[in-house]
Amino acid sequence: MAFAQLGLNPLVVKAVEASGYTEPTAVQIQAIPATLQGTDLLVSSQTGSGKTAAFMLPCLHRLDQPSALPGRGPRVLVLTPTRELAQQVTRAAETYGKFLKRLRVVAAVGGAPLHVQAKLLSQPVDIVVATPGRLIDHLERGRIDFSRLETLILDEADRMLDMGFIDDIEAIIARTPATRQTLLFSATLEGVVGRLAQRVTKNARRIEIATAPENKAKIEQRIHFADDFSHKSRLLDHLLRDVALSQAVVFTSTKKSADDLAVQLRGEGFAAEALHGDMNQRDRNRTLQALRQGRTRVLVATDVAARGIDVPGISHVINFDLPRQAEDYVHRIGRTGRAGREGIAISLAAHFEKRQIRDIERYTAQAIRVGVIPGLEPKARPARPEGFGDKRRATAPRPAGGYGKGNGNGYGAKSSFGDRKAGFGDRKAAFGEKQSSFGEKTGYGHREGTRPGSDKRNAPSGTKRRAYGGY
Ligand code: AMP
Repeated sequence: MAFAQLGLNPLVVKAVEASGYTEPTAVQIQAIPATLQGTDLLVSSQTGSGKTAAFMLPCLHRLDQPSALPGRGPRVLVLTPTRELAQQVTRAAETYGKFLKRLRVVAAVGGAPLHVQAKLLSQPVDIVVATPGRLIDHLERGRIDFSRLETLILDEADRMLDMGFIDDIEAIIARTPATRQTLLFSATLEGVVGRLAQRVTKNARRIEIATAPENKAKIEQRIHFADDFSHKSRLLDHLLRDVALSQAVVFTSTKKSADDLAVQLRGEGFAAEALHGDMNQRDRNRTLQALRQGRTRVLVATDVAARGIDVPGISHVINFDLPRQAEDYVHRIGRTGRAGREGIAISLAAHFEKRQIRDIERYTAQAIRVGVIPGLEPKARPARPEGFGDKRRATAPRPAGGYGKGNGNGYGAKSSFGDRKAGFGDRKAAFGEKQSSFGEKTGYGHREGTRPGSDKRNAPSGTKRRAYGGY
């Protein structure tokens, strides 16, 4: 199918074609015509599926016609969980709308000066892309007029809820006109997201796009077991010297370890930079710009900071620390294999992390191959637990009570990851906090989102994420 067949304005189609896209993706084929009809939508689609264009193109189509209502406020509002994703959506709007007359897009995100944004928002604006916390700041100051708002998009709604934005989102929605069209995009439409969706949409059409099959096939995944921290570092060094690696994102579990690892890698001669939520917006932008321009070859990042990064040159994702939630694994590996390219995702795991890996395999319904690098073989042979790496098991249905309520010291253990009774920031130390994965005292501090300025609020109890594997 061609973009021209979707009923979009020719100026929008021209911009899409100028971006090099030849045909719409599955989510675009379904969501674009439905959005043009004015229906509310609940869309489950993974990152990398082309979801941004799926909601942005029909919005731009409408913006080519003047608003029937007076006012200067935005006609389209996109809420995103992170600043980086907001900036990416802003860029997408500008790219796809470049042939439209007088299109004004404003990013209202934390980290940038409030007064500069307030000035931009005081002029006529078509699209506002915002993180919830910052938008609330503007709303409280009376800087935004939603009287002519036509479309509200909640992008990566599941992530916004995970990050504790539920109250902000509800407060924002309460200020928008009841006549608006609402489009909710999320990796999952179940649980808290489903309940939010019910409250904020009307007669919504559900569009479920399974993990983009083309993406799944294009990301080669493997695990290397490491005996200890030094072995892990040697494995990383080896992997980063692979000539097939053009650019890599290396994930760590804490901001401190991201900083430390970036310093270590620079010392080893790599063009490495850290990216995490404690950095100010200017530094984050500069780092991402260097990555996009290819000046940075290795980005060492935390989950939240790396969310939404869309740099086609990223050939490898390396999990230096395993993610705490299986769904984060999917988001991490989605940083590679972008825009139809192939990618490699490698996880470095300690022998005692087999349960986490098994949970990831179950979540993704894919077995992950264990790789060994000659000369860097692990000394200990990991005993594979039942079902580990076994395709049949990996695709087995999940028990009703969820997985991973196991041995009390790993992923899925009741007191461990994701059991956020105490809310963000005041959880008990888990992997990578007081202790590194190998038990060394590192003093690594806060998890992302635990400090003021990281553009997140404390998670209310309603947004508690289940323990690893307990979906
Ligand atoms: P998203 O899921 O919105 O993060 O998009 C993932 C990537 O796919 C981005 O790099 C987009 O530029 C790219 N993309 C979006 N639509 C298409 C398309 N129809 N064909 C090829 N690439 C696309």
